[in-house]
Amino acid sequence: MSQSILVIGGGFSGLTAAVEAAEMGYDVYLVEKESYLGGRVAQLNKYFPKLCPPTCGLEINFRRVKTNPRIVFYTQAEVKSVQGGAGNYNVQLEVNPRFTTPQCTNCKPAEDVATTTMPNEFNFGMDQRKGVYMPHPMSFPQQCVVDPSVISTDEGAKIQAALPAGHIDLTQKAETVNLNVGAIVVATGWKPYDATKMDRLCYGKYPNIVTNMMVERMASPSGPTEGKIVRPSDKAQPKTIGFVQCAGSRDKEHLPFCSYICCLATLKQICYVREQNPDAEIYVFYIDIRTPGMKYENFYSKVKADKKVHFIKGKVAEVKEGASGGVILVAEDTIGGGKVEQAVDLAVLATGMQPVGAFSPVPGIEYDANGFVVPKDGIVPCGCAKRPVDVVSSAQSATAAALKAVQTVRRAG
Ligand code: SF4
Repeated sequence: MSQSILVIGGGFSGLTAAVEAAEMGYDVYLVEKESYLGGRVAQLNKYFPKLCPPTCGLEINFRRVKTNPRIVFYTQAEVKSVQGGAGNYNVQLEVNPRFTTPQCTNCKPAEDVATTTMPNEFNFGMDQRKGVYMPHPMSFPQQCVVDPSVISTDEGAKIQAALPAGHIDLTQKAETVNLNVGAIVVATGWKPYDATKMDRLCYGKYPNIVTNMMVERMASPSGPTEGKIVRPSDKAQPKTIGFVQCAGSRDKEHLPFCSYICCLATLKQICYVREQNPDAEIYVFYIDIRTPGMKYENFYSKVKADKKVHFIKGKVAEVKEGASGGVILVAEDTIGGGKVEQAVDLAVLATGMQPVGAFSPVPGIEYDANGFVVPKDGIVPCGCAKRPVDVVSSAQSATAAALKAVQTVRRAG
């Protein structure tokens, strides 16, 4: 019987679960698929409830991880198998190489000699990165990564030569790690729903249709446009913006559930736009605006008081090409009556959240039809692996999951 706990997923909920369990005195293994901890929150410009930048919550958790010897974390690591039962799970991980050592905290000299560029995943492909890179400015760990595609090339050799000895090791191989743990917290989080699946919304067909997560990256000072919300086609500041709510969510053809955060994300992004352009006309097409709780409801009221923000109750049924690179959003106005055809310079799809389990399930973990984790003895889901939630609720469910995991290992021991 093992007294250790495994946390799968190093986003906000996984970090919270890991530090809570470790601070209760239990050994924790934290496993993250990406090359950095922090998950989706790291990609946001600001987040609720205080509308602060991601650093404000993540840095505290990173410090707690760094200073707690009970936590061992793996990045670029995936769970390959889970076998056993409560108190005694055998888990196999594959840890992929970064091809650098922890001393490699500044790859600028190597980036300067690297020539191949590839889409920057962290910024949803809105800019490019090199074959050697820091995943993002506040990456934890602060350690560069070499892309596997350049390893055996001349470029790989140039990258190696540009860095001090001992900072890079192109001979690293994937490693298998076997763990024995008593309980598993699943905090694998979510991914924005693939907007290309909704033909009627024409994402990918017209350049000036973006997703809400792309707006987060644009609005971020460290993002691809250095904080400016612009049209991808000409980098111009949009004068009219249309937000399309429930893009994929509450639709039995796509995600049959409400994604919980995308109404709030739109209200927040309206504030970003307003800060940058006091004259922008903003149109929000919605089925319902969902802002649960008094704090969020007050935030909605504040945004609604803006005379240049127009809420239209109607689902966008069609998107047509507009003038000068813009698009026309077509919907049935269920309150005002009649068909609305609104031309906008930029359309933002409030894409829903799809649990990672829907497309990348962890072997040995049980999922429901939508990809949310089904709890069973010793396997405890939290955050958006369990249901769509905001960051605050995610942290609360992670604390609860840590407690459940501790109860499991104590019972088993
Ligand atoms: Fe639709 Fe709002 Fe629910 Fe998102 S939060 S799915 S936009 S109702």
